[in-house]
Amino acid sequence: MSTAILPASEQLSLNVMNEPKPSPAPREFKNVRREVTADAIAVLTFDRPDSVANIFDRVTLEELNAHLDTIERDSALRGVVLTSAKPGIFIAGADLHSLSTAPMNALREMVEFGQRVFSRLAALPLPTAAAIHGACLGGGFEVCLACDFRLATPDKATKLGLPEVQLGILPAWGGSTRLPRLIGLPKALDLILAGKTVVAKQALKLGLVDDLVPHESLLAAALKKVAKAGRKPHRATPLALKATNNLLVANLISMWTQPKLFKKTRGHYPAVLKALEVVTLGVGRSEERSLKLEADAICMLAQTEAAKNLIRVFFLQERAKKLTFDGGTGKSSSPQRVERATVIGAGVMGAGIAQWLAARGVSVMLRDINTDAVGRGMATVAKLFADGTKRRTFTPVEARAAMDRISPVVELPSLRRTDVIIEAAVEKMDLKKDIFRKLEQLAGPDTILATNTSALSVTELADSLCAPERVVGIHFFNPVHRMQLVEVIHTPRTDAEVVRRALKFVQAMGKLPVLVKDSPGFVVNRVLMPYLVEAARLFEAGAEVTDLDEAMLDFGMPMGPLRLVDEVGTDVSLHVAETLASHYHRRMAVPEVLSRLVKGGHLGRKSGEGFYLHRGKEAVPSEDAARFVKDDSAANLDRVDLELRMVLLMVNEAARCVEEGIVSGPEDVDFAMIMGAGFAPFRGGPLRHADTVGVANLVREMNRLVDDGEERFAPCALLKDLATKDGKLYPEKGVLI
Ligand code: NAD
Repeated sequence: MSTAILPASEQLSLNVMNEPKPSPAPREFKNVRREVTADAIAVLTFDRPDSVANIFDRVTLEELNAHLDTIERDSALRGVVLTSAKPGIFIAGADLHSLSTAPMNALREMVEFGQRVFSRLAALPLPTAAAIHGACLGGGFEVCLACDFRLATPDKATKLGLPEVQLGILPAWGGSTRLPRLIGLPKALDLILAGKTVVAKQALKLGLVDDLVPHESLLAAALKKVAKAGRKPHRATPLALKATNNLLVANLISMWTQPKLFKKTRGHYPAVLKALEVVTLGVGRSEERSLKLEADAICMLAQTEAAKNLIRVFFLQERAKKLTFDGGTGKSSSPQRVERATVIGAGVMGAGIAQWLAARGVSVMLRDINTDAVGRGMATVAKLFADGTKRRTFTPVEARAAMDRISPVVELPSLRRTDVIIEAAVEKMDLKKDIFRKLEQLAGPDTILATNTSALSVTELADSLCAPERVVGIHFFNPVHRMQLVEVIHTPRTDAEVVRRALKFVQAMGKLPVLVKDSPGFVVNRVLMPYLVEAARLFEAGAEVTDLDEAMLDFGMPMGPLRLVDEVGTDVSLHVAETLASHYHRRMAVPEVLSRLVKGGHLGRKSGEGFYLHRGKEAVPSEDAARFVKDDSAANLDRVDLELRMVLLMVNEAARCVEEGIVSGPEDVDFAMIMGAGFAPFRGGPLRHADTVGVANLVREMNRLVDDGEERFAPCALLKDLATKDGKLYPEKGVLI
């Protein structure tokens, strides 16, 4: 029995008994242990070897199935409890690697096998309970749904849900069938269609779990629950559930919800619509029929491009969590923890970064030029903590403790004990050079010197110092607490150990790094900017604001390009665009409309007007901005043409990042664009999209536009080369699904 999750008193009373009858096929259990308590309750402990997480792969399912063989035969048993030996995870879900690489018949077999195993658990004539601590997601939660009782710890680590639709599939090990039968159709749809994960307190409120119990008494409480139940509880469907869980109501809900979902997803996420269909059809049918609907649906969805791409994004996120760097040195180290950080500049980004680090236990010194500026920064930090407390990300006590970890300063003391300094002052090269020269003197020999610049040259900044090898870019995105991506930028002179430490620091702070060699705009701004600039140029040439934005919403972007410029600020967008134009010249030449908007004080949302007139959350195209339309050369382009132009420029620039070797491969650019710019995730990123549509097709379109005199569309050498060979940006080998 795992001792990790049991108090000593419980360990004694667990006095494991031998199985009454030896299993006919003795086997080694590596993932799921079975022990029997003195009270004749079988405890199944999930404990995947050499891993911090439990997942449901084929072997684990087989082991669970074999335990059920024994349990079914043992007439002396009085109950079953499922538990996990991992400190922060119950079961994180199904093994996506094997599911995503399985041929169709193997996938169906695996889905049906899982359904059979969980249905056997549900059908045991004994009371069963799941003792849940930590992540309990997807297949992990589906096995709990097959139990009679679910107890969970109230800890932050405990999260429950069925996130499958976010991967382009649906819960198909009984989740789409059992959840509506447990909590009712409307609440189940709310969770399943959004792929929502909830914390323990919400789970209790929704009826996903029966009780919350402190971690130290969780297993004891689960054992007590089944012992007290005595026999299998008979669960009559409550009246409230009968009212919704029938074909008539389900049909109405489906008819009402379907068009709304279609509008919201613009038809790009087939799993959401399919899950609605399966859950609403299944709820009025037998469990067996409903399970068959689940299995058919997942086999269909697994073949969609959307599922393949969304699962790839999941793998890329996992990869980022483990990313390492040897810089050609063949070395890797385990850099020390970051305990003390200094943030220079207490504006939007500095305050956001300070808040994020302090919330993760780092002591932060936050510096700005005067007490007013630092005071404003601290007010921003306080607001972020207050909002986080409202969202229950922190308890008030945690927020207070984190806030106390931030010291506002105007005069910098010695920074010799600081592990990392992140500069987030205004975007001016001379000012940043000045700041870094001072920092270099104040910092200790091992202090990482990092800049959060959006687009300035990290190399130029580093080269102005005595020790350029200590400088990296650590580029957080706005808003810091919501954006998971961080670009870690290294110059030709950055020491490999500094890069390693910067990477580890970003990962330890719970962010997802992408490693980029210094080049103007790094990856995200470099690829995003030509797209935003093109939208502004098309606007200047007579295209409607609504057409431009709707075209890209239809493509799958979370926000139209001109609305994004307004949100970022026309001034900030202009500044980044001009910085990039100074490097990339004609292909990123900035249209006049941006500077004219800025000159006219139309700075976007923050001034109330930009391309749009902003009133609260509402935004309508600004009539005033229409004054800056120069001609009508783009007035007749339809949305498909507009989309094509904007997408071509993103694909071309993304391919250049690979061609120039500033990233390790196309997956880095795609990952950065999805996580940093919201590029349509179901398309898998600009370069995966290029492969799907066909590089040769895109190059043909680029050349057509060049022939029409639009030089900026000229395809890069990599794309041209691939087009002649009918090649792809991603090699076929190693495709994940
Ligand atoms: P901001 O204007 O909100 O804040 C900058 C702060 O720096 C101000 O409070 C200013 O008083 C302070 N400052 C100026 N000189 C200073 C000095 N010598 N020492 C200390 N503080 C000084 O700017 P921001 O939006 O927070 O951007 C900061 C940096 O982050 C810039 O390099 C920007 O390009 C980059 N960045 C911005 C965003 C964004 O969306 N705002 C996103 C990523 C990166």
